[in-house]
Amino acid sequence: MDLGIAGRTALVCAASKGLGRGCAEALAAEGVNVVIVARTVETLEVTAAAIRAATGVDVKAVACDITTPEGRAAALAACPQPDILVNNAGGPPPGDFRQFTHDDWIRALESNMLTPIELMRATIDGMISRGFGRIVNITSSAVKAPIDVLGLSNGARSGLTGFVAGLARKVAPQGVTINNLLPGMFDTDRIVATITAQAKAQNISIDESRRRRMASIPAGRFGTPDEFGRACAFLCSTHAGYITGQNWLIDGGSYPGTF
Ligand code: NAD
Repeated sequence: MDLGIAGRTALVCAASKGLGRGCAEALAAEGVNVVIVARTVETLEVTAAAIRAATGVDVKAVACDITTPEGRAAALAACPQPDILVNNAGGPPPGDFRQFTHDDWIRALESNMLTPIELMRATIDGMISRGFGRIVNITSSAVKAPIDVLGLSNGARSGLTGFVAGLARKVAPQGVTINNLLPGMFDTDRIVATITAQAKAQNISIDESRRRRMASIPAGRFGTPDEFGRACAFLCSTHAGYITGQNWLIDGGSYPGTF
Protein backbone atom coordinates (compact mmCIF):
# COMPACT_ATOMS: atom_id res chain seq x y z
CA MET A 1 0.00 0.00 0.00
CA ASP A 2 1.29 3.46 -0.90
CA LEU A 3 0.97 5.49 2.29
CA GLY A 4 0.78 8.76 0.33
CA ILE A 5 3.42 10.59 2.35
CA ALA A 6 6.47 10.49 0.05
CA GLY A 7 8.24 13.86 0.06
CA ARG A 8 6.86 14.85 3.48
CA THR A 9 9.21 15.81 6.31
CA ALA A 10 9.27 14.14 9.72
CA LEU A 11 10.95 15.07 12.97
CA VAL A 12 11.55 11.83 14.87
CA CYS A 13 12.79 12.20 18.44
CA ALA A 14 14.99 9.70 20.28
CA ALA A 15 15.61 7.81 17.06
CA SER A 16 19.14 6.42 17.03
CA LYS A 17 17.93 3.11 18.47
CA GLY A 18 14.87 1.12 19.41
CA LEU A 19 11.31 2.21 18.74
CA GLY A 20 12.22 5.73 17.57
CA ARG A 21 14.63 4.28 15.01
CA GLY A 22 11.94 1.83 13.89
CA CYS A 23 9.61 4.79 13.23
CA ALA A 24 12.30 6.77 11.35
CA GLU A 25 13.14 3.74 9.19
CA ALA A 26 9.52 2.98 8.34
CA LEU A 27 8.78 6.61 7.45
CA ALA A 28 11.95 6.84 5.34
CA ALA A 29 10.96 3.64 3.55
CA GLU A 30 7.80 5.51 2.49
CA GLY A 31 9.88 8.33 1.00
CA VAL A 32 9.59 10.69 3.98
CA ASN A 33 12.64 12.90 4.61
CA VAL A 34 13.57 12.52 8.25
CA VAL A 35 15.32 14.59 10.88
CA ILE A 36 16.42 12.22 13.62
CA VAL A 37 17.39 13.24 17.14
CA ALA A 38 19.33 11.42 19.87
CA ARG A 39 21.96 12.31 22.43
CA THR A 40 25.01 10.34 21.25
CA VAL A 41 26.42 11.72 18.02
CA GLU A 42 28.30 8.55 16.98
CA THR A 43 25.31 6.19 17.27
CA LEU A 44 23.06 8.77 15.66
CA GLU A 45 25.35 9.24 12.64
CA VAL A 46 25.57 5.46 12.12
CA THR A 47 21.77 5.25 12.13
CA ALA A 48 21.45 8.23 9.79
CA ALA A 49 23.91 6.68 7.33
CA ALA A 50 22.05 3.34 7.43
CA ILE A 51 18.67 4.99 6.73
CA ARG A 52 20.16 7.07 3.88
CA ALA A 53 21.73 4.00 2.31
CA ALA A 54 18.55 1.92 2.63
CA THR A 55 16.07 4.50 1.35
CA GLY A 56 17.81 7.37 -0.45
CA VAL A 57 15.75 9.98 1.42
CA ASP A 58 17.22 13.12 2.96
CA VAL A 59 18.28 12.31 6.54
CA LYS A 60 19.50 14.98 8.97
CA ALA A 61 20.93 14.04 12.35
CA VAL A 62 20.74 16.36 15.34
CA ALA A 63 22.67 15.25 18.42
CA CYS A 64 20.99 16.77 21.47
CA ASP A 65 18.96 16.03 24.57
CA ILE A 66 15.38 16.60 23.41
CA THR A 67 14.17 17.04 27.00
CA THR A 68 16.06 20.35 27.37
CA PRO A 69 15.09 23.76 25.92
CA GLU A 70 18.46 23.90 24.09
CA GLY A 71 17.92 20.42 22.63
CA ARG A 72 14.44 21.28 21.40
CA ALA A 73 15.72 24.53 19.90
CA ALA A 74 18.42 22.60 17.99
CA ALA A 75 15.91 20.02 16.72
CA LEU A 76 13.47 22.72 15.63
CA ALA A 77 16.23 24.76 13.96
CA ALA A 78 17.00 21.71 11.80
CA CYS A 79 13.31 20.97 11.22
CA PRO A 80 11.13 24.03 11.85
CA GLN A 81 8.15 22.88 9.77
CA PRO A 82 7.67 19.12 10.02
CA ASP A 83 4.58 17.52 8.46
CA ILE A 84 5.04 14.61 10.85
CA LEU A 85 6.21 14.73 14.46
CA VAL A 86 7.10 11.57 16.39
CA ASN A 87 7.58 12.35 20.08
CA ASN A 88 9.81 10.00 22.03
CA ALA A 89 12.43 10.08 24.80
CA GLY A 90 13.89 7.67 27.32
CA GLY A 91 11.53 6.40 29.99
CA PRO A 92 11.78 7.33 33.69
CA PRO A 93 13.51 4.91 36.09
CA PRO A 94 11.56 2.33 38.12
CA GLY A 95 11.25 2.52 41.91
CA ASP A 96 9.02 2.82 44.96
CA PHE A 97 7.03 6.05 44.90
CA ARG A 98 8.11 6.81 48.50
CA GLN A 99 11.64 7.23 47.22
CA PHE A 100 10.75 9.48 44.27
CA THR A 101 11.75 13.06 45.01
CA HIS A 102 10.15 16.22 43.69
CA ASP A 103 13.07 16.49 41.25
CA ASP A 104 12.45 12.92 40.01
CA TRP A 105 8.87 13.89 39.22
CA ILE A 106 9.92 17.08 37.46
CA ARG A 107 12.41 15.12 35.33
CA ALA A 108 9.75 12.55 34.37
CA LEU A 109 7.25 15.27 33.53
CA GLU A 110 9.86 17.17 31.47
CA SER A 111 10.79 14.05 29.48
CA ASN A 112 7.50 12.28 28.99
CA MET A 113 4.86 15.00 29.15
CA LEU A 114 6.17 18.54 28.72
CA THR A 115 8.73 17.90 25.94
CA PRO A 116 6.10 16.40 23.60
CA ILE A 117 3.72 19.26 24.46
CA GLU A 118 6.42 21.87 23.73
CA LEU A 119 7.23 20.24 20.39
CA MET A 120 3.55 20.13 19.45
CA ARG A 121 3.20 23.78 20.45
CA ALA A 122 6.11 24.72 18.19
CA THR A 123 4.99 22.78 15.12
CA ILE A 124 1.21 22.42 15.09
CA ASP A 125 0.32 25.82 13.67
CA GLY A 126 2.48 25.14 10.60
CA MET A 127 0.67 21.83 10.14
CA ILE A 128 -2.69 23.58 10.49
CA SER A 129 -1.75 26.24 7.94
CA ARG A 130 -0.69 23.54 5.43
CA GLY A 131 -3.84 21.48 6.13
CA PHE A 132 -1.91 18.33 6.92
CA GLY A 133 -0.18 17.11 10.04
CA ARG A 134 0.49 13.84 11.80
CA ILE A 135 1.65 13.65 15.40
CA VAL A 136 2.46 10.34 17.06
CA ASN A 137 3.49 10.17 20.70
CA ILE A 138 5.30 7.04 21.85
CA THR A 139 3.93 6.40 25.34
CA SER A 140 3.56 2.99 27.01
CA SER A 141 1.14 0.18 27.77
CA ALA A 142 1.53 1.52 31.33
CA VAL A 143 -0.96 4.27 30.42
CA LYS A 144 -3.68 1.63 29.96
CA ALA A 145 -2.55 -0.83 32.62
CA PRO A 146 -0.20 0.78 35.16
CA ILE A 147 3.00 -1.05 36.05
CA ASP A 148 3.57 -0.77 39.82
CA VAL A 149 7.29 0.00 39.78
CA LEU A 150 6.90 2.56 36.99
CA GLY A 151 4.92 5.18 38.90
CA LEU A 152 6.81 8.04 37.25
CA SER A 153 5.99 6.67 33.81
CA ASN A 154 2.35 5.87 34.68
CA GLY A 155 1.82 9.41 35.93
CA ALA A 156 3.77 11.52 33.42
CA ARG A 157 2.57 9.65 30.35
CA SER A 158 -1.05 9.72 31.54
CA GLY A 159 -0.75 13.51 31.84
CA LEU A 160 0.32 13.70 28.20
CA THR A 161 -2.48 11.33 27.18
CA GLY A 162 -5.12 13.46 28.87
CA PHE A 163 -3.84 16.65 27.27
CA VAL A 164 -3.65 15.11 23.80
CA ALA A 165 -7.21 13.79 24.07
CA GLY A 166 -8.43 17.39 24.15
CA LEU A 167 -6.01 18.87 21.60
CA ALA A 168 -6.62 16.13 19.01
CA ARG A 169 -10.30 17.09 18.76
CA LYS A 170 -9.42 20.77 18.44
CA VAL A 171 -7.12 20.38 15.44
CA ALA A 172 -9.05 17.59 13.68
CA PRO A 173 -10.90 19.98 11.31
CA GLN A 174 -7.57 21.27 9.97
CA GLY A 175 -6.26 17.89 8.80
CA VAL A 176 -4.00 17.33 11.79
CA THR A 177 -4.22 14.06 13.68
CA ILE A 178 -2.64 13.22 17.04
CA ASN A 179 -2.42 9.65 18.26
CA ASN A 180 -0.45 7.76 20.88
CA LEU A 181 1.29 4.42 20.37
CA LEU A 182 1.44 2.27 23.51
CA PRO A 183 4.23 -0.31 23.31
CA GLY A 184 4.05 -3.48 25.37
CA MET A 185 7.32 -5.42 25.37
CA PHE A 186 9.62 -4.74 22.42
CA ASP A 187 13.05 -6.12 21.71
CA THR A 188 15.16 -3.00 22.28
CA ASP A 189 18.12 -2.07 24.50
CA ARG A 190 15.68 -0.97 27.19
CA ILE A 191 14.15 -4.44 27.44
CA VAL A 192 17.59 -6.07 27.44
CA ALA A 193 18.53 -3.88 30.43
CA THR A 194 15.32 -4.81 32.27
CA ILE A 195 15.79 -8.52 31.61
CA THR A 196 19.41 -8.43 32.71
CA ALA A 197 18.44 -6.70 35.98
CA GLN A 198 15.64 -9.22 36.60
CA ALA A 199 17.92 -12.18 35.90
CA LYS A 200 20.36 -10.85 38.48
CA ALA A 201 17.62 -10.21 41.06
CA GLN A 202 16.11 -13.70 40.60
CA ASN A 203 19.51 -15.43 40.29
CA ILE A 204 18.62 -16.96 36.92
CA SER A 205 20.31 -16.74 33.53
CA ILE A 206 19.50 -13.94 31.11
CA ASP A 207 18.12 -16.52 28.67
CA GLU A 208 15.78 -17.91 31.33
CA SER A 209 14.65 -14.42 32.30
CA ARG A 210 13.96 -13.68 28.63
CA ARG A 211 12.05 -16.96 28.20
CA ARG A 212 9.85 -16.24 31.24
CA ARG A 213 9.06 -12.75 29.96
CA MET A 214 8.12 -14.04 26.52
CA ALA A 215 5.98 -16.80 28.00
CA SER A 216 3.86 -14.11 29.66
CA ILE A 217 2.95 -12.60 26.27
CA PRO A 218 0.12 -14.26 24.28
CA ALA A 219 2.12 -13.81 21.04
CA GLY A 220 4.97 -15.72 22.75
CA ARG A 221 7.60 -13.19 21.73
CA PHE A 222 8.67 -9.57 21.99
CA GLY A 223 7.64 -7.08 19.34
CA THR A 224 10.19 -5.72 16.88
CA PRO A 225 11.04 -2.06 16.28
CA ASP A 226 10.17 -2.66 12.61
CA GLU A 227 6.60 -3.73 13.49
CA PHE A 228 6.25 -0.71 15.73
CA GLY A 229 7.62 1.62 13.05
CA ARG A 230 5.21 0.27 10.41
CA ALA A 231 2.25 0.99 12.70
CA CYS A 232 3.58 4.51 13.22
CA ALA A 233 4.00 5.04 9.47
CA PHE A 234 0.41 3.92 8.88
CA LEU A 235 -0.87 6.41 11.46
CA CYS A 236 1.12 9.09 9.59
CA SER A 237 -0.33 8.07 6.22
CA THR A 238 -3.00 9.83 4.20
CA HIS A 239 -5.22 6.77 4.81
CA ALA A 240 -5.28 7.39 8.56
CA GLY A 241 -6.78 10.88 8.36
CA TYR A 242 -9.94 9.79 10.21
CA ILE A 243 -8.03 8.25 13.12
CA THR A 244 -7.29 10.78 15.82
CA GLY A 245 -7.14 11.03 19.60
CA GLN A 246 -6.56 7.29 19.85
CA ASN A 247 -4.33 5.19 22.07
CA TRP A 248 -3.07 2.20 20.11
CA LEU A 249 -1.81 -0.66 22.23
CA ILE A 250 0.80 -2.80 20.46
CA ASP A 251 1.55 -5.57 22.92
CA GLY A 252 1.15 -9.01 21.33
CA GLY A 253 -2.15 -9.49 23.21
CA SER A 254 -0.78 -8.86 26.71
CA TYR A 255 -3.56 -6.54 27.85
CA PRO A 256 -6.23 -8.95 29.13
CA GLY A 257 -9.36 -6.85 28.53
CA THR A 258 -11.94 -7.25 25.76
CA PHE A 259 -11.26 -3.70 24.54
P1 NAD B 1 15.97 2.41 23.61
O1 NAD B 1 16.79 2.56 24.83
O2 NAD B 1 16.13 1.23 22.75
O3 NAD B 1 16.19 3.70 22.67
C1 NAD B 1 16.02 4.97 23.18
C2 NAD B 1 16.44 6.00 22.14
O4 NAD B 1 16.12 7.27 22.69
C3 NAD B 1 17.92 6.03 21.87
O5 NAD B 1 18.10 6.39 20.51
C4 NAD B 1 18.43 7.16 22.77
O6 NAD B 1 19.59 7.78 22.29
C5 NAD B 1 17.25 8.10 22.67
N1 NAD B 1 17.08 9.02 23.79
C6 NAD B 1 16.81 8.69 25.08
N2 NAD B 1 16.67 9.80 25.81
C7 NAD B 1 16.85 10.84 24.96
C8 NAD B 1 16.83 12.24 25.13
N3 NAD B 1 16.63 12.79 26.33
N4 NAD B 1 17.06 13.04 24.05
C9 NAD B 1 17.28 12.48 22.84
N5 NAD B 1 17.30 11.17 22.63
C10 NAD B 1 17.10 10.36 23.68
O7 NAD B 1 14.46 2.58 24.13
P2 NAD B 1 13.10 2.06 23.47
O8 NAD B 1 12.84 0.69 23.97
O9 NAD B 1 13.09 2.33 22.03
O10 NAD B 1 12.02 2.98 24.22
C11 NAD B 1 11.54 4.20 23.68
C12 NAD B 1 10.45 4.73 24.61
O11 NAD B 1 9.38 3.78 24.67
C13 NAD B 1 10.93 4.93 26.05
O12 NAD B 1 10.29 6.06 26.59
C14 NAD B 1 10.46 3.67 26.74
O13 NAD B 1 10.26 3.88 28.12
C15 NAD B 1 9.14 3.43 26.01
N6 NAD B 1 8.70 2.05 26.13
C16 NAD B 1 9.46 1.03 25.60
C17 NAD B 1 9.02 -0.28 25.74
C18 NAD B 1 9.81 -1.44 25.15
O14 NAD B 1 9.39 -2.58 25.31
N7 NAD B 1 10.92 -1.23 24.49
C19 NAD B 1 7.82 -0.55 26.40
C20 NAD B 1 7.07 0.50 26.93
C21 NAD B 1 7.53 1.80 26.78
